[in-house]
Amino acid sequence: MPFKTLGLSDPLVRGILATGYVAPTEIQSQVIPLAIEGKDIIGCAQTGTGKTAAFVLPILNRLSHEHATKNKHIKALILTPTRELAVQIEQCIIGYGRFLNMRTLAVYGGVSIGAQFSALRRGVDIIVATPGRLLDHMYRRSIDLRHVEVLVLDEADRMFDMGFINDVRKIIAAVPENRQTLLFSATIPQEVKNLAAGIQKHPKIFQIGQEHNPIDTITQHIYPVSKEQKMDLLMYMLQKGGMYSVLVFSRTKHGADKINHRLDRAGIKSIAIHSGRTQGQRSRAMEGFKANKFQVMVATDIAARGIDVEGISHVVNFDVPAFAEDYIHRIGRTGRAEAKGDAITLISRDEDKYLRQIERFIGCKFKMERCPGFEYTAPPMPTRQSEERPHTASHGHKFSTPGKKRFRPRWKRR
Ligand code: AMP
Repeated sequence: MPFKTLGLSDPLVRGILATGYVAPTEIQSQVIPLAIEGKDIIGCAQTGTGKTAAFVLPILNRLSHEHATKNKHIKALILTPTRELAVQIEQCIIGYGRFLNMRTLAVYGGVSIGAQFSALRRGVDIIVATPGRLLDHMYRRSIDLRHVEVLVLDEADRMFDMGFINDVRKIIAAVPENRQTLLFSATIPQEVKNLAAGIQKHPKIFQIGQEHNPIDTITQHIYPVSKEQKMDLLMYMLQKGGMYSVLVFSRTKHGADKINHRLDRAGIKSIAIHSGRTQGQRSRAMEGFKANKFQVMVATDIAARGIDVEGISHVVNFDVPAFAEDYIHRIGRTGRAEAKGDAITLISRDEDKYLRQIERFIGCKFKMERCPGFEYTAPPMPTRQSEERPHTASHGHKFSTPGKKRFRPRWKRR
């Protein structure tokens, strides 16, 4: 189905084609026509499904028909949990809307507020914001949300995870009630349902793929290895060839810096991105990684949702994430928009409990593998599965139809 059958305006379709998209993804063909009609929507979409365009295109379509630039009112507000996501959504808006005369601004913390004031004074049609900085602007009266027609909550589950929900509620209270509300979330736990019930009118609900289920295009490998040999194994894999654009995840900032330095010392081009770095450093790291100046980017979970780099060939979990949801978000950085990707998780003995949580979350058991050709100095962790099954030369593991298991979300466990 071509984009023009979705009801989008001609200059917008030209903008989409110029971005390089040929046909809409599943979520786009389902959501866009109804969003254009003004319906409220809940999109439960796996990461990498193309959900950003699913909410950005109807907004651009609506505003282009309204000749939005004639006044200085903010007409659409997109709330998102991380700075990186805010920047990426802003870039999508600019890209798709290149033949429209639309003014967009990403409003996020960690950068000077002065430039944001100036842009706001000139007039902005669409704001993409993280909650903290947006509230700051609202308190300073530099942002007025009284004319917002469309509100988008992106990554709503992550807003809860990151403790933003009270800020989000304050912001929503400042937006007119007769707006259109689009809510997107990778998972829809009860808290998100409750939020939606309070802010939406008869929403249409879309679920793309299985909730909690990593997208089909990602092949997952689990390599048990002693803690002492993790770094050696990572370097071995990187130097062996075939891993040209690799995102390595570390649970801590300190860990991310340490891995980055070790790789750098070994002559592997690498950069780190985490919340301990300035916004400028984070942006430069992202740009460098996107431009293939670095083979590796080492990141913490806080950065995971915001990273949308095309062609990440591999995600490596240097340690197993302590929260199962983070596993989904980490590995979703590869295999984007139906490209193929590999996710490799290095697991040491003390991390088995986390792996079990992930298995419960996605309703599937992993198979343990050995990295072919790597010399293990100590036997890899003897886990339940590696004891039960002999090691085989494996070609990775894809999930088929996971059963839905009950999982206690992070905020309930606190
Ligand atoms: P998202 O789920 O919005 O983060 O999108 C994931 C990736 O898919 C991004 O790199 C988008 O640029 C890309 N993408 C979105 N829609 C399409 C499309 N219709 N055709 C090809 N790529 C797309």
